[in-house]
Amino acid sequence: MTRESVQPAGRRGTESGVFWLGTRATTSIVRVVAKPVGIGVIEEPWQWSVSAELYAAVAAYARPRDLTLLAVVHTHLSPRVPRLSPTDRTRGLKIKDALAIIIGCAGGELDPARWGWFVYGPSGYRSLTTGEQAKRITMTTEPTEFVDIKAGRPS
Ligand SMILES: [Zn+2]
Repeated sequence: MTRESVQPAGRRGTESGVFWLGTRATTSIVRVVAKPVGIGVIEEPWQWSVSAELYAAVAAYARPRDLTLLAVVHTHLSPRVPRLSPTDRTRGLKIKDALAIIIGCAGGELDPARWGWFVYGPSGYRSLTTGEQAKRITMTTEPTEFVDIKAGRPS
């Protein structure tokens, strides 16, 4: 579902991304895939970023539902195993234990082991080992909710 939502942008030749919201636990479960849309979203060939207002809108959506922002997932156009760009490091989420996940091939890479996995900690983002990736987060087989998030209009 995440890949389907970011691939239209990939076909346009730009990066794209979504937020994974859920409950944080030893292994967190993704309950909601939230796609930021509209003002404040930058989808360009070498950059995907969202404004502070959109992060706030995501938080406003999550809080009353007891959801935590687990990960920011975005695409890179290159088929190589992704690394965080300088923009990703400076503009990304800066919350302890939050994950930054990057899917290569503009969202077309199927194998999560070939995605870029990073976690935010005291010294910034670091790579997750393959073993940690599986332990940290899981997509349920139950239907995950899918929502669009607009700045200034959390609903
Ligand atoms: Zn990036």
